[in-house]
Amino acid sequence: MSTQVNTEALAAHTTSRVGGPAQAWVVADTEKQIVEAIREADQADTPVLVLGGGSNILAADAGFPGTVVRLATTGISTEELTADSGQPRVRVTVAAGHVWDDVVAWTVDQGLTGLEALSGIPGCAGATPVQNVGAYGADIAQTLHQIRALDRATGEVVELSNAELEFGYRDSIIKRTLADAATDPRAATPRWVVLSVEFDLRRSGSEAPVRYAQLARALGVEEGEHASLQAVRDHVLQLRAGKGMVLNADDHDTWSTGSFFTNPIVPAALRAQLPDTAPAFGAGEDPESGEALVKLSAAWLIEHAGFPRGFGTDLVEGRASLSTKHTLALTNRGQACTEDLITVARAVRDGVQSAWGIELTPEPVLLGCSL
Ligand SMILES: Cc1cc2nc3c(=O)[nH]c(=O)nc-3n(C[C@H](O)[C@H](O)[C@H](O)COP(=O)(O)OP(=O)(O)OC[C@H]3O[C@@H](n4cnc5c(N)ncnc54)[C@H](O)[C@@H]3O)c2cc1C
Repeated sequence: MSTQVNTEALAAHTTSRVGGPAQAWVVADTEKQIVEAIREADQADTPVLVLGGGSNILAADAGFPGTVVRLATTGISTEELTADSGQPRVRVTVAAGHVWDDVVAWTVDQGLTGLEALSGIPGCAGATPVQNVGAYGADIAQTLHQIRALDRATGEVVELSNAELEFGYRDSIIKRTLADAATDPRAATPRWVVLSVEFDLRRSGSEAPVRYAQLARALGVEEGEHASLQAVRDHVLQLRAGKGMVLNADDHDTWSTGSFFTNPIVPAALRAQLPDTAPAFGAGEDPESGEALVKLSAAWLIEHAGFPRGFGTDLVEGRASLSTKHTLALTNRGQACTEDLITVARAVRDGVQSAWGIELTPEPVLLGCSL
């Protein structure tokens, strides 16, 4: 049986440590329990929130008017794939509730290449396809084979391939079904609830190519050259810790949802209106107009619109601010509520809009609240 607890504050289960109480709370230790709990809530038309590590949600102070299903399934299994050409590959299947960084550490120990640059990202494996998590030149889309998921529209368990998930930058077909979560508690959980995730990883003899300039510099290699999997993991964790991007209960800079805003993707023509020093990277073409697109740095836009590290304390009596380590994380300084974080986020979003004419989009899922 799943564990049913009467009330729980979301603040105790989110990395920003904010969010009010859930009406009902279920801990699901098996896939069957997850499926049953969600089907039951859906049939009763009760709003349901599937929760992993709570590292990518900002939930209202009023709490969640429905059932929270906390995913607690664990397990990793492997299957050797026949080597066609090149290196042998292994299919790694991970249960949705497995702590993500434990998955990465396990693959590094096994000499399996593909996830090492995603070390230190909080949360559970099942959430990684939701926004195609990425860091240091890697994202889930590069290695994910398929997912098994409960399709809430039909009540059936289905398999969705990498192509069917329509991955983009911090985006997938799953994330798009969360579009109304800010205003409608029935949209707090995506249409597809991920039950397990399958990755195809290379058995590489414990080395991996380094695809990110800052990481390559830290490792003392050229971008594209190889380094040991363990060295990549260690350096990623070190770089992330320096930015407050590894959870640490003693460091308020990590009481956040990581990056609060996504890097805007805009028409290349708009780039020309920014100073030459503004970083911009090619981001393909607009599928409709064919216009060239660039990805801008949200951190740069924020800093150069006049919002330094630590900004915002005076707006909310010191309870919340931008991180003191970088400008992209919105942090709880110890006593913040959700509304405090929203106050700071609004000031930053509005300031960037008036400085550059660019609207920043929040990366976490906002539940029952909005900017
Ligand atoms: C310090 C810090 C650093 C971070 N760094 C990064 C980074 O480098 N790159 C990056 O991409 N992200 C980063 N994040 C964001 C976050 O860790 C990831 O998005 C992570 O995958 C969220 O996992 P979670 O289990 O905590 O999801 P939750 O916050 O619990 O859930 C987020 C959303 O996904 C839904 N969801 C959760 N599990 C499932 C499931 N199994 N099936 C369907 N829907 C589900 C929830 O309903 C919710 O809407 C960071 C966050 C923090 C706090």
